[in-house]
Amino acid sequence: MTTIAIHNGHVIDPALGQDGIADVVIVDGRIARVGPGEGDAVIDAERIDATGLVVSPGFVDLHTHLREPGFEGKETIRTGTEAGARGGYTTVCAMPNTMPALDSRAAIESVLREAEASARIRVLPIGAITVGRQGKELTPQGELQAAGVVALSDDGDAVADPSLMRHALEYSTRFNLPIAQHCEDPSLVRDGHMHEGWVATRLGLRGRPASAEETMVARDIALAELVGAHLHICHVSTAGSVALIAAARERGARVTAEVTPHHLTLTHEEVAFADDYVHIRYNTNAKVNPPLREEADLEALANALRDGVIDAIATDHAPHGVNDKAIEFDLAAPGLTMLETAFGLSMRLVHEGRLSLPTLIERLTIGPVRTWRLDEIPGLQGLGTLAPGALGDVAILDPDAEWTVEPEAFASKGKNTPLGGKTLRGRVVATIANGQIVHETERMVAL
Ligand SMILES: [Zn+2]
Repeated sequence: MTTIAIHNGHVIDPALGQDGIADVVIVDGRIARVGPGEGDAVIDAERIDATGLVVSPGFVDLHTHLREPGFEGKETIRTGTEAGARGGYTTVCAMPNTMPALDSRAAIESVLREAEASARIRVLPIGAITVGRQGKELTPQGELQAAGVVALSDDGDAVADPSLMRHALEYSTRFNLPIAQHCEDPSLVRDGHMHEGWVATRLGLRGRPASAEETMVARDIALAELVGAHLHICHVSTAGSVALIAAARERGARVTAEVTPHHLTLTHEEVAFADDYVHIRYNTNAKVNPPLREEADLEALANALRDGVIDAIATDHAPHGVNDKAIEFDLAAPGLTMLETAFGLSMRLVHEGRLSLPTLIERLTIGPVRTWRLDEIPGLQGLGTLAPGALGDVAILDPDAEWTVEPEAFASKGKNTPLGGKTLRGRVVATIANGQIVHETERMVAL
């Protein structure tokens, strides 16, 4: 029997509508009791004083690149889930753009075996939509679902062929699996490496227009409506995409969407270092697909997240090695390491008064769970909530703590972030996954 009693925290559980001071008691990996003073009656417990801190369900990420198998130099299941634990995450959905791609029962089973052996938190695999992510032939969706995938995606690339996408969506209705699309039309972004706008012009870099995303969002919504499938739009980045998604949902289409902390808070100006206006340089750590956009996009994304047009915050944690980034901009790998900074960066919206803390927590916990109906999967009932009987996954947060981002200190192998040296306000103090403490800082006080 292991018992953990978290005393006197400000418990925010959006799934239950709970928002007040209470104790949380975890017994044998499950939430046992939640309420004022509930921890006092428990004997032989490991005790944590959460006075002045927020206690929430553990975060759930729909979009994590763990890189294993095949790219263990960038990240492993061990280091990626350690990074997740430090970021308050207790569940991550692992993208299939590994080597080999997660396109077969054997590949899925090997990831689950490795996760069983070395993961610090729960790993739910995502299967590829097409064999080898080549965009030519569909994977066996029923077989992948039986092996344990929670969604399908060729993320990193879009499924470009509209007819193949239609068939993928149509096929998925048999298994009720979400099809998660990285929406960027390859023929419109071919030579582009950042947002098509004035910064790209100033730097002399070719751009990826907002319309490259929006045309594919529009196309895929039409296809999903045609066949009645569940389309999930990964990392929405433009105001135009938000409008398309809002209209589709208004019509009752089965369309869900996620947004990353970086697309919510950083613009294309992040790509440029301007020491002065004579010398202007670029920062490959701000290179990501889809690219960082403009202020008006950020505002539309934040409003859509607040209003529920966007269902979830997802990290698109994309670790890379130093040599993938310390090269010419055109050649640099796209992506940001994000798990360890996601909460602090997203908290900017709360501190700016544009999002309430309970809504932010909703979009990090029960929001993503409901988006992909993860709590309907056997063994995952009670994911994303602190209801008695739920999984013992908890994040303890200090919304006001300021800290400086030090990429060298990340658990992730990926140090590729434009946030290095910057101050974030909002910190994960401790993380409990499946009833075990998997992350704690000096701010956590044991009683
Ligand atoms: Zn993507």
